[in-house]
Amino acid sequence: MKLPIVAGNWKMNTTLSEAISLISQLRSRLEDIDNVEKIICPPFTALRDAHEILGGSSCKIGAQNLYFEGKGAFTGEISASMIKDLCEFVIIGHSERRQVFGENDTTINKKIRAAIEVDLTPILCVGEQLGDRNSGLAKDIVRNQIKSCLAGISEDVVIAYEPIWAIGTGMAADPAQIEDMAAEIKKVLKSLHPGDRQTLPIIYGGSVTTSNISAFMQNEHIDGALVGGASLIVDDFVDIVEKAQDAKSKSE
Ligand code: PEP
Repeated sequence: MKLPIVAGNWKMNTTLSEAISLISQLRSRLEDIDNVEKIICPPFTALRDAHEILGGSSCKIGAQNLYFEGKGAFTGEISASMIKDLCEFVIIGHSERRQVFGENDTTINKKIRAAIEVDLTPILCVGEQLGDRNSGLAKDIVRNQIKSCLAGISEDVVIAYEPIWAIGTGMAADPAQIEDMAAEIKKVLKSLHPGDRQTLPIIYGGSVTTSNISAFMQNEHIDGALVGGASLIVDDFVDIVEKAQDAKSKSE
């Protein structure tokens, strides 16, 4: 049985002391929630503390980004090997990276390769703009992103479907839209690697809250959630993890 995944993307939030407090609270509140893969993605500055505080716990750690080169003159960047001892997952290709920092499918493909090289599991983010959805192009956009970002890659990744218009807007996609896209993503994965790719986890992100998580988790093709804003509020994140667990155990 595949465990549902709930990952919290803290983005560029928390001072070190705030991060330590949040991680400590999450450790004690999440520890006893079984049957969910709980992943906390703090900023780089808190990865080492997260690693220490969460050592031996059931919570996993993810980074929010990496640079694809191994080392060298890349001021301000962090390589896969610099974080590999501190986390197991890494978010790659988040729409904020694409929109604010100009990342594209080619750089994202290189980042996924760099992550896999050191045994990190990439959480690849894909998703369309509102204009693309309104023009009926959402599936084409996401299909192309997956094909390009995963070109030549056959190792396991987590796919996070995050429609850009739903991120941080309070306007989550509706369960039918998510289900429809997740089914399409499965089709693309199958076409890329017939036989073994349909089982990659697909999670949804975009204004996930305590009120809508249960509905998303009912989706046959959705294996979890990538949570931004609500992951910084301990009660909300714990509630989302609990509801993800309940929804999936009922649907088994
Ligand atoms: C995200 O950052 O990946 C995200 C989905 O953010 P939010 O939950 O705040 O929309």
